[in-house]
Amino acid sequence: MQSGKSFHSHFGVVDHDTVIGREEGSELEARQRDGTVTGSGRYLVFRPTLADVVIGMPRGAQVIYPKDLGAILVAADVFPGARILEAGVGSGALSMTLLRAGARVIGYEIREEFARRAVANVGLVAGSDASYEVHDRDVYEEIAEPDLDRVVLDVPEPWRVAGHAAAALRPGGILVAYLPTINQTAELRDELRSSGFVLAETFEILRRTWHIEGRSVRPDHRMVAHTGFLTSARLASAPMARRPRRKEQAGAEDPRDLAPAPDQKTKSPTATAEGD
Ligand code: SAH
Repeated sequence: MQSGKSFHSHFGVVDHDTVIGREEGSELEARQRDGTVTGSGRYLVFRPTLADVVIGMPRGAQVIYPKDLGAILVAADVFPGARILEAGVGSGALSMTLLRAGARVIGYEIREEFARRAVANVGLVAGSDASYEVHDRDVYEEIAEPDLDRVVLDVPEPWRVAGHAAAALRPGGILVAYLPTINQTAELRDELRSSGFVLAETFEILRRTWHIEGRSVRPDHRMVAHTGFLTSARLASAPMARRPRRKEQAGAEDPRDLAPAPDQKTKSPTATAEGD
């Protein structure tokens, strides 16, 4: 909100000055340009949450969605004061989430205009005294910072970072990567294994909202089907390190991987969305 500015929508005009200083949760009526109440629109005044900011802020790169941001905080076990290397920084959605949890964040971003936008976006939420710096660096080439607690990656080829991350993280440190496809994820898992990471886990978050109105209580018809896969792993100390890549080992690890698939015809529930 900025004094002297106004917000326009099809309901009418809201001057920022009528919002600034107002108690959260209070109502506001939209007005026409001449100041008369339109009668068709009412607004509720609230400070935006972090999720509101992430969805509404100017973006260059695709942001990580709030459902995944929350899961990343837990998977990476982010704690106040944690020293975290994040790459690439993109629009800064993940940066602001890590900073909100009290971390100190060092970001790498290869596109200068994205780095600038991220710093501006993050400044809106985290304030200028947040422990945040963004470097114009290619994370595939190196991680220059030692003794990291966490490495959090949202780049297309994070397997190219596993070796640098193993050198830069302290033993027990956690790496978390966000990837849109499972082929990329499999490539990462192989490289993590051969770089000394253990306890690897891959999962996705499916968030299904519900329509709850009187007697009509059911899942909403629409949901975001897919955003990305999250993978986390911990760095072992030296003796556990450098195990062969799975591709180089003979046969499958789990005999079920080779078993024929169950007969689909015997159990194929059809998911259909029906109205009430
Ligand atoms: N997580 C971010 C979005 C990141 S999009 C958010 O929530 O807002 C991926 C970003 O990685 C892009 O901005 C891209 O420029 C950057 N990138 C790709 N390869 C990189 C590399 N090798 N080193 C650093 N940044 C890289």
